[in-house]
Amino acid sequence: MANAETATQREPGRDFIRDIIEADLKAGRHKTIITRFPPEPNGYLHIGHAKSICLNFGVAQDYGGRCHLRFDDTNPTKEEQEYIDAIERDVRWLGFDWGRHLYHASDYFEQLYEWAEHLITAGQAYVDDQTQEEMRANRGTLTQPGRNSPFRDRGAEENLDLFRRMRGGEFPNGARVLRAKIDMASGNINLRDPVLYRILHAQHPRTGRKWCIYPSYDYAHGQSDAIEGITHSLCTLEFEDHRPLYDWLLENLPVPSRPRQYEFARLNMSFTVLSKRVLTELVRGGHVSGWDDPRMPTLAGLRRRGVPPEAIRDFVKRVGVAKANSVVDLGLFEFSVREVLNRTAQRRMAVLRPLKVVIENYPEGQIEKLTAANHPDNASQGTRQLCFGRELYVERDDFMENAPKAFYRLTPGKEVRLRYAYFVRCRAAVKNAAGEVVELRCTYDPATKGGNRPPDGRKVQATLHWVSAYDSVPAEVRLYNPLFSRPDPDAAEFAAHLNANSLEVLGEARLEPALAASNEMDAVQFERQGYFCRDAQSKPGRPVFNRTVGLRDSWAKAAAEAKG
Ligand code: ATP
Ligand code: MG
Repeated sequence: MANAETATQREPGRDFIRDIIEADLKAGRHKTIITRFPPEPNGYLHIGHAKSICLNFGVAQDYGGRCHLRFDDTNPTKEEQEYIDAIERDVRWLGFDWGRHLYHASDYFEQLYEWAEHLITAGQAYVDDQTQEEMRANRGTLTQPGRNSPFRDRGAEENLDLFRRMRGGEFPNGARVLRAKIDMASGNINLRDPVLYRILHAQHPRTGRKWCIYPSYDYAHGQSDAIEGITHSLCTLEFEDHRPLYDWLLENLPVPSRPRQYEFARLNMSFTVLSKRVLTELVRGGHVSGWDDPRMPTLAGLRRRGVPPEAIRDFVKRVGVAKANSVVDLGLFEFSVREVLNRTAQRRMAVLRPLKVVIENYPEGQIEKLTAANHPDNASQGTRQLCFGRELYVERDDFMENAPKAFYRLTPGKEVRLRYAYFVRCRAAVKNAAGEVVELRCTYDPATKGGNRPPDGRKVQATLHWVSAYDSVPAEVRLYNPLFSRPDPDAAEFAAHLNANSLEVLGEARLEPALAASNEMDAVQFERQGYFCRDAQSKPGRPVFNRTVGLRDSWAKAAAEAKG
């Protein structure tokens, strides 16, 4: 887990952001720390957002401050109520609460508009009539300065008049924009007269048709922070170059407070794409069943997959908050999931690919009850009863006809333990006309009840899980593998890097009845298989279970192989 070590060079829960905040508190610069999580409601939250959520809400908790949830709803063409609802649900599920501090950038549209007029009056903003292409052509490049717009020196009167008419709906989409008048030759392209307002005749989820001009992200963000009294505006590294503009706007407007922006590294994870654009395309293109497809890195997908929120918080903490971008091993995420589930998940037995077993010396029609522990390390989780009878199912993989010496499981002549039940010895395999093994004939030793060693002290080398034919319940089990086949999928050609084997459906699994009887959505451990949880799509009498994660790390190996 080299990545985990390099990313967490400091003790968990400590980072440069917290250092800054502590210094600010010590110097008396702030009495209360106020942060915000500012999603744009144009998609579902993913595990990368979880990093930002845990940081913003976590910092507020650590220092007795508060964290606002603010929807950055400045682009009505891409935003939907469905996303707003999903975001609120997911932040809560992750374990955070914004109390009464739910805000929207759209709450501030009127104030933002007034401040735009303020800039115009001060000669610091102008209405530009250039087409988008002209603006692009005149923006310059990283090495060449831009060229001033021919409309840059319009007088304040004219600008004000045009801007008011933009608001009034006189012009079509794209006809004009409002730009800050900063410096077309700046080395920082963000300062080359950035766009503050654009015309967009569109229905907004909250303001309806009230507005037909909308502020840009850069214009709305810092001022919204200032209105809310945000002390530390934490964002990802790609906004570092926007900070001079963030500061310029705050310096030139009569804002009520002076927030500071700090940037940290985005979360990237191997075998995973964390881009809302790509995730949207996966959903729209039918590559997955929806935003909550258990293969998606969305919080909704992870929840449906059985990942507990505690595991996500634990993972984010292990990753830490750094200033340099890196890619975190998927194995580290799964490690956090296993850590939590090993502790909390009850144990059950399920046979994923059943092979029938007949215990020849067990009386026909007899059923007995055996006791099984729900958790090996935690007696307070209690026990449950299992029915044992003459006919059972074991895992197909646990039998091999011509087995090598090192195969400790079922093969003719070999004795194994059936967990919580008895020692059984395989006598013979029954085959169908095609030569496939369809049934095992076994005997059991009544002196080994509970799976205990017999008086002669005989040992076995394997303990297998099983279910009874008498009361086990047929089920569908879905095994998930990474959605992408490469450790470093390319967002630009994500479709080519999709893993064709990301979903394996096992339609003939059999579960012990306790699994089918309960509607519990928490993950359980299927002994020897991994952690699983009931899918919300389960139908009565036909449960569906999702594999949350296997018992062991397989991706570190896969990543190493892919690298050669
Ligand atoms: P896109 O995926 O299109 O770049 P976005 O993920 O930035 O969009 P936002 O809704 O603007 O979408 O994100 C809300 C907040 O979450 C922002 O402050 C952003 O910096 C943060 N965030 C987004 N992705 C990550 C990530 N991978 N790691 C950490 N923080 C992230
Ligand atoms: Mg963004």
